[in-house]
Amino acid sequence: MLGVYFHIPFCVKKCFYCDFYSIETEPKDLSLIHTEESYEIDESIANQFLSSLENEIKIRTNDSNKIEVDSIFLGGGTPSLLSPQHIKLLFQYINEYFQVSNSSEITIECNPGTITPEKLEVYKVVGINRLSIGVQSFIPEELKFLQRIHNSEDVFHSFKLAREFGFDNISIDLIFSIPGQKRENLIYSLSKAIELNPEHISAYSLIFEKGTPLYNEMKKGKIKPVDDNIDSELYEIVIDFLTDNGYEQYEVSNFAKNQKYCNHNLKYWHNQEYLAFGPSAHGFYKNIRYKNKRSLKTYINLLKSNTLPIDFEEFQDDKTKLTDTIFLGLRSDGIDFNKLMKNFKLDLRNIIKDEITFYKENDFIYENNDKIILTKNGYKICDSIAVEIITKIDQYFANRNFKLVN
Ligand code: SF4
Repeated sequence: MLGVYFHIPFCVKKCFYCDFYSIETEPKDLSLIHTEESYEIDESIANQFLSSLENEIKIRTNDSNKIEVDSIFLGGGTPSLLSPQHIKLLFQYINEYFQVSNSSEITIECNPGTITPEKLEVYKVVGINRLSIGVQSFIPEELKFLQRIHNSEDVFHSFKLAREFGFDNISIDLIFSIPGQKRENLIYSLSKAIELNPEHISAYSLIFEKGTPLYNEMKKGKIKPVDDNIDSELYEIVIDFLTDNGYEQYEVSNFAKNQKYCNHNLKYWHNQEYLAFGPSAHGFYKNIRYKNKRSLKTYINLLKSNTLPIDFEEFQDDKTKLTDTIFLGLRSDGIDFNKLMKNFKLDLRNIIKDEITFYKENDFIYENNDKIILTKNGYKICDSIAVEIITKIDQYFANRNFKLVN
């Protein structure tokens, strides 16, 4: 079944390192941060955005009956800034244009401090059953460096509130390899995270994305990224700490307890199709990968004239699909030889048999049910393994002038 993503492009304040598209709703009076007044999106902008979203859904699903979906993800930005009324309106559109399966996973990304009892009540009513909370760190200096607006108390408060409202599937995001990060600080954040006992934890190494203030400061020589060896050491701390505490690593950066994987992200990693709406959203539907324009203003204006806000579209040929399937599978729950044979008529096991032997001997992969899956050591060099495998496939095609059969 299809997944659906909505990009909600509002944040109270832009974080130093963030490359996601969002506009600030920062109050003029900074003392209002940490009060509910700071969390309101301008009513008229929110109304125009919601009505554009509806129009985009209508156009993109135009030729279909209600499409059946089993995962919905509200990401951003900070979707928890939407008012209860706007959340209700969004779900009214969702139910109008999609057939939402009863077993759907419905996630909303929330930032600590932006969740209120009124919002949680509405989340329950509309069927949201998974929260993803952007914690990043429990160390005040690190939060300050990242220019996050919240503190640890906000995290505990929001998490407790969500549990009180019966949310039993909560994910926490953490960031490591923050410049100057001490090992003990990372361990402290990890231990505070597991104290909350979330069902899921995502832990990402800080990326210096081009165009962000963080990247610009690095270019000026004011900030130095963490050295690669230390980054790898910190990553190992993350994996060891979380796996020792009952979290299964099921993707390079994702860990879950009791198989509470993020089903929506699994669709991406299994290279399945999904529809995406909102400024800067990326989708993959009917064999076409597309990206919407970033600017909210452009997005609204184009949709007012019933024009899709497309920035980029690309048809996925078989070769690209195969490469994506291998790359994404390797990062998550493995490369499935049977599926590759069934979908692409490709005997990958035979093509990379020498590599498989080498990776196994060096404890980078293991085999299970006709799949190769990365070990802890393998996850650390995931990208180089993927490149090696894809290069081998390219050579195979070049030698045989092979054409994929799909
Ligand atoms: S809250 Fe999230 S989306 Fe918003 S600026 Fe910060 S990192 Fe980016």
